[in-house]
Amino acid sequence: MIVLDGAVQTTISAWALAAYPHEAVGFVLGEPLPTLATVTALVPVANLASTPNTTFVLDPVGWFQADAVAQQTGTAVLGIIHTHPDSPAVPSIHDARNAADVGRSLFWLIVSVTSHGRIDIRGWHWDGAEFVEDDVAWN
Ligand SMILES: [Zn+2]
Repeated sequence: MIVLDGAVQTTISAWALAAYPHEAVGFVLGEPLPTLATVTALVPVANLASTPNTTFVLDPVGWFQADAVAQQTGTAVLGIIHTHPDSPAVPSIHDARNAADVGRSLFWLIVSVTSHGRIDIRGWHWDGAEFVEDDVAWN
């Protein structure tokens, strides 16, 4: 299960809407526990894709930025987060390719965002062959 801290929900929604209609991408940080991950922070990263409305290319420097923030705050990099403007919070073929490269260590949060400001957040992890959905809880 992935738990979203109350403050970070607001941050994620504002960040997703600000990037609309482009996909926003970043990392989520927080406290890892054996069966539960509590997300407490978002580290936005530039989307370098040439077609940012439908895909993302993570600026490689984002990996270092996320690690630096995690070290400064005593947290861990838990997952990758990105938005799907006007499309469901379900992994795309492109996401599956990225996940196969990244591996199983990070989970994926996908944020569906519409022009009306409707936000839907779903969590996933890569099991080595496909995405498996995780429960997302809010506290
Ligand atoms: Zn995607």
